Amino acid sequence: MPFDPAARVQDFLVFGEFGDVNPSITDSTTYTFLNPQRMEEAFEHDIAGCFLYSRHWNPTDKFLADALARMEDAEAAQVMASGMGAITCTILALCSAGDEIVAGRTIYGGTYAFFKNLLPRFGVTTRFVDTRSHEAVRRAMTSRTRVVYVESISNPLLEVCDIPAVARIAHEHGARLVVDNTFSPMILSPIRLGADIVVHSLTKFVNGTSDCVAGCVISSADFINRLNDPNSGTSMLLGPVLDSLRAASILKNLHSLHLRIRKHGDNALTLARDLTARGLPVHYPGLPSHPQHTLIASLANPGFGYGGMLTLDVGTHDRASRLMMRMQDEKVGYLAVSLGYFKTLFSAPGSSTSSEIPAAERHAMGLTDGLVRFSVGLDNDISRASDAIWRCLEELERVPEPARA
Ligand code: PLP
Repeated sequence: MPFDPAARVQDFLVFGEFGDVNPSITDSTTYTFLNPQRMEEAFEHDIAGCFLYSRHWNPTDKFLADALARMEDAEAAQVMASGMGAITCTILALCSAGDEIVAGRTIYGGTYAFFKNLLPRFGVTTRFVDTRSHEAVRRAMTSRTRVVYVESISNPLLEVCDIPAVARIAHEHGARLVVDNTFSPMILSPIRLGADIVVHSLTKFVNGTSDCVAGCVISSADFINRLNDPNSGTSMLLGPVLDSLRAASILKNLHSLHLRIRKHGDNALTLARDLTARGLPVHYPGLPSHPQHTLIASLANPGFGYGGMLTLDVGTHDRASRLMMRMQDEKVGYLAVSLGYFKTLFSAPGSSTSSEIPAAERHAMGLTDGLVRFSVGLDNDISRASDAIWRCLEELERVPEPARA
């Protein structure tokens, strides 16, 4: 039987305290105890159903965390105030001074900057490699490597990670595999494929309404408990708590994620095919021309498509800028960073979400200045968008590029 993450979320029934169909939202930072002994016990170890203080746990965050753990077929999860909060707490829980990380060279710019610029201050260094080459991953591993870090579908180059193979290499060297699954919730289930820890920016597809920033860490109960340890847990001590009102709204949106992710994927595939048929250089994991199409087809849970992200290379920074302005005028979507929104969003990662990566490294990995990244929306008729994009591109051909001073 193939794994069905949507059924796992759907089967998660939780009621509010008055039998409400949505769990009641906890509007408290602290919780009363009937006697001091019980409070002492709660400080010593977790007691199921017993809450102390909302930076540690609150019931609404717990409902969302439990639903996300089910989605990823894992034991436990913890929600955080942002995807970066989830990533930084995870890495700081795993690494100490002198340790090393092996990371994919094409990852979200904020994660890259954390590894490259901030972690060395704490004695943790990172080797960035092309994780499509298993030999390159193997060569980068040393006795000090604690973490191999990848994105399931990378931002923005949309390279697909061979999670089972990379997990094997990490484990052979005693390291943990951490997978950022932000681009492919429900499509890929990294823990089932061998990863130890999954992180998400819930800000994106999982929430889907671009109205709040949130993240999560999904793993074994042991690892999630470590994050919450009152004496040494990174989540407990750094404190990126998700507000319970936001957790409640994300939980409601999670219940339509399977429908949205299919529609994002159907629309992205249609758009990718249309633009390819017009001779445009489109990159999309659902196209047979994508170098890891067979790989993702073999790893993906059936029926969820190949995701809502695609890229189009229009050659130069100027052309990318002019195209995006025209597309916004033509109502293709919004010129905005982020992804997973119900409307199409587009941006040029070289000068925005990946600008933390130095230009020479960006160019070496094929992240050109003319690359436009699309997060394809839930349009009822996506062919209108592909016609509009084509019109905008034809217009660019007619109007010459402004000469640079
Ligand atoms: N991971 C990926 C793949 C992302 O694209 C982003 C943000 O764009 C993040 C993590 C960080 O998430 P957040 O903005 O929720 O902190």
